[in-house]
Amino acid sequence: MRCAIEANQHGDVLLVTKSAISESNTRYAQGGIAVAMNDDDRLDFHVEDTLQAGAGLCDEAAVRIMVEEGVSRVMELINWGAEFDKHGDQRLNFTQEGAHQKRRVVHRGDETGKETTDVLVNQLKCQDRIRVIESCFVVDLLTKDGVCHGVLATVDQVLHVIFAKATILSTGGLGQIYQCTSNPSIATGDGYAIAWRAGCQMVDMEFVQFHPTTLFLDGAPHFLISEAVRGEGGILINSRGEIFMAKYHELEELAPRDVVSRAILNEMELTGTPCVYLDITHLTQDFIKTRFPMIYQTCTHYGLNISTDLIPVRSGAHFMMGGIETNLDTETHLPGLFACGEAACTKVHGANRLASNSLLECLVFGARSARSAARYVRHLGASIRVSVQFEQPGTPAQSTKLTTEEAKEVIRELMWRHVGIIRNGNELAEVAQQLTDLDANPSWKTEFNDSVFECQNMLDVARLIVETAIQRTESRGAHYRTDFPDRDDLNWISHIRLTASD
Ligand SMILES: Cc1cc2nc3c(=O)[nH]c(=O)nc-3n(C[C@H](O)[C@H](O)[C@H](O)COP(=O)(O)OP(=O)(O)OC[C@H]3O[C@@H](n4cnc5c(N)ncnc54)[C@H](O)[C@@H]3O)c2cc1C
Repeated sequence: MRCAIEANQHGDVLLVTKSAISESNTRYAQGGIAVAMNDDDRLDFHVEDTLQAGAGLCDEAAVRIMVEEGVSRVMELINWGAEFDKHGDQRLNFTQEGAHQKRRVVHRGDETGKETTDVLVNQLKCQDRIRVIESCFVVDLLTKDGVCHGVLATVDQVLHVIFAKATILSTGGLGQIYQCTSNPSIATGDGYAIAWRAGCQMVDMEFVQFHPTTLFLDGAPHFLISEAVRGEGGILINSRGEIFMAKYHELEELAPRDVVSRAILNEMELTGTPCVYLDITHLTQDFIKTRFPMIYQTCTHYGLNISTDLIPVRSGAHFMMGGIETNLDTETHLPGLFACGEAACTKVHGANRLASNSLLECLVFGARSARSAARYVRHLGASIRVSVQFEQPGTPAQSTKLTTEEAKEVIRELMWRHVGIIRNGNELAEVAQQLTDLDANPSWKTEFNDSVFECQNMLDVARLIVETAIQRTESRGAHYRTDFPDRDDLNWISHIRLTASD
């Protein structure tokens, strides 16, 4: 949406979304937006913390752009009407999150994503050249002679060809390829798969961040319990009532996310229980209700009073650090195609994202993407029309019959069990084979419909993650292998890239 608003200054814009416009990862962001605007903070501190979290794989130039331009992007949001929490004297109230050396996260209670979405939707409505089509599923890119000319998309299961002088993918993340995730149902990794099939270079696909604390309660979704809850004093305890984070990291509850996620998994194994607990019962009910209204209400809805009860939590797939490789201007390797937001990999996050840096990345690189696409369009010659050919699905071979929903569940389970917080070479190799077999099993893809397209995307993306996880024979950031438990700076301060022709 930030990209479309900028693009409106340069030409006609068509914005398509697979569900309602407000249904996205952005909508569910809780903690806030990291920005170095507090009195005791500096841009350099924010850069430092981002590089530190990224474990040697951030591109410092990209990080500097995000941190420096981020200040204007956040000020702009405020000018457009975003009401972030303030102190009594009207100064912004910055919160603390894990691995930040300063309080630098602007937020609106625990509903920063909703506030940001609402402001951007309102701003979109003020633009005169943006047309929005909701419930429009992009299936693939239209390419000819190595150039992108638009997309193939469905509306009500009918295929449409949409030509565009420049195409920008900002299709968000892929949490839904894992059984346990904080991401909404739209986050099936479509953009990664679409770009990869069109020949784009993918990078850092092994780096999936797991959020340490998603709600683990019978009948409730894996609702995120924001890191800000630990930032405000929440304490993790195991089922024996023991506080444990000091054993794992000097920053205790505010250690990097991969450290906290692995610590939680270890405590679950040590105690033989399926979760640990987050304790905020020492905070006052008034503070909890004001600071975390959505978390309070959601937990209350499922019968949990978080001001008196412990919150059962476990880790869930949360954020993709890798993605479609772009340069600092968001250009992909395919002329005519640009990418921004979680779908893109500008390398600002490296091997592990610093909390609340992704909304900032979306705002900064969203705006940059539109400017870059506009420059590309200005230098274009006459538009080209491409013809579209469809491959009919083949006749099912002899193999186990699966529905599309069953195939999706197989992917989610394989990824969760073997390609999650802790990985090893043998299991990764087995999963690679099982995913290959699933791809070769045509029983779940005998029809052309959005669910089948989505499942194919999940499968393609899962295979990319497994392949890169096999290749990276070390542990770094969010990628942890028990057979290579150490970070290997001698051989592995490098990025793994994949293209469809590999
Ligand atoms: C629960 C939760 C809490 C979070 N909290 C924070 C936080 O506090 N701070 C922070 O910085 N980050 C947070 N994040 C991460 C952050 O929200 C996301 O990384 C970011 O919002 C991604 O934005 P995006 O624009 O790239 O994608 P999204 O906001 O997910 O938007 C993707 C869009 O692409 C569309 N789309 C996808 N596939 C298709 C297709 N095939 N066809 C057509 N349209 C398609 C979708 O409909 C959607 O409109 C959180 C994430 C979650 C899930």
